[in-house]
Amino acid sequence: MPITVAAVRENAPHERRLALTPEVAKKLKALGVEVLLERGIGERTHVPDALYQGVEIGDTAAAVIARADVLLKVQPPRPEEIAALREGAVVIGFMAPHADDDRVRALRDRRITAFAMELLPRTTRAQAMDVLSSQAGMAGYKAVLIAAQVCGKFFPMLTTAAGTIRPSRVLVIGAGVAGLQAIATARRLGAQVEGFDVRPEVREQIESLGAKFLDLGVTAAGSGGYARELTAEERAEQQRRLAEHIKSVDVIITTAAVPGRPAPKIISASMVGGMKAGSVIVDVAAETGGNCELTRPGETVESGGVTVVGPLNLPSMGAIHASEMYARNLFNFLSLMIRDGALHLDWEDDLVAGTCLTHGGEIRHAATQQRIEGA
Ligand code: NAD
Repeated sequence: MPITVAAVRENAPHERRLALTPEVAKKLKALGVEVLLERGIGERTHVPDALYQGVEIGDTAAAVIARADVLLKVQPPRPEEIAALREGAVVIGFMAPHADDDRVRALRDRRITAFAMELLPRTTRAQAMDVLSSQAGMAGYKAVLIAAQVCGKFFPMLTTAAGTIRPSRVLVIGAGVAGLQAIATARRLGAQVEGFDVRPEVREQIESLGAKFLDLGVTAAGSGGYARELTAEERAEQQRRLAEHIKSVDVIITTAAVPGRPAPKIISASMVGGMKAGSVIVDVAAETGGNCELTRPGETVESGGVTVVGPLNLPSMGAIHASEMYARNLFNFLSLMIRDGALHLDWEDDLVAGTCLTHGGEIRHAATQQRIEGA
């Protein structure tokens, strides 16, 4: 009996992405599963229903969800979506496990098998499923375009009849996936770009994009290839050196993050006070509190002539390509679990086990389980 893979409209405000594209629907059909979608699923992404071939369209989200063996999502499921799922159904998407204990409890109590894509182990085999990377790429790209839009300067050097224009100086703080894409994008626009990170191994990657590595003498490599939180002394040293440096930059893009922690505060209000009027900061970490002390998530503020932009859901601003990548990531992950059109959950597979948040009435992610249920 083939399983039914379903997706419904994402109702969160500012969410234009979708979890299941026509390309992926076709690939799912080729795996021998049925595809069921809510009518108008791709409306916000400019994908008409007619582009989905050989799928079934349902009129309401509740009716679609009630028949799903697997529900594909972008945003974490809302209470009514969890309530509409059948016991034992699978849901795959962002689950924001740190953000809402009631949601995790509801998934547990409804005996839903929830896969939180942000928990996917970041191994080589997982790369094609890595939603954090695919979406961060769009975030870094859009952040630079916002900066270019807000900044009253050209990015490239120009030689014109009205004289020479010097290129803008762009500093990217945090050179993970989003930061590297921001560096590449700012370079393509012709800016003079520097990148900084506490992981020293990214120097080479920054330089390979034609940017300069800004060495502030602070390194903080943590486990699993991630950064760790800085000590108070390291943070003070970083801020002292950075404060001096940013007096001369035109644009700062901040993308620094430490897994499971609020975004590190790197640019203080007094550092912003030392920047040139007309400078711009785009804080990609706004959603997790921001890397700049003045950032207000979802808002643009001005302080002493410096504009601080705190955008929310940058990937959704590039919803068409972000959805293409996201849907392929989910397909690659789901493919691990489908054999002959049926669902096989292989708990020996580190990607399946490591991404699971809840299953069979239990919270499977250790840190979340401890936080919610105690030892
Ligand atoms: P992230 O979003 O967690 O963090 C963004 C960047 O901020 C990181 O580069 C981090 O070092 C940096 N940072 C943290 N604190 C900082 C501070 N105080 N000052 C300056 N920078 C700071 O990172 P990410 O983009 O998700 O990637 C992190 C790592 O994971 C990288 O090593 C990346 O290569 C690796 N990765 C591996 C895979 C894979 O193999 N499947 C896929 C994606 C990423």
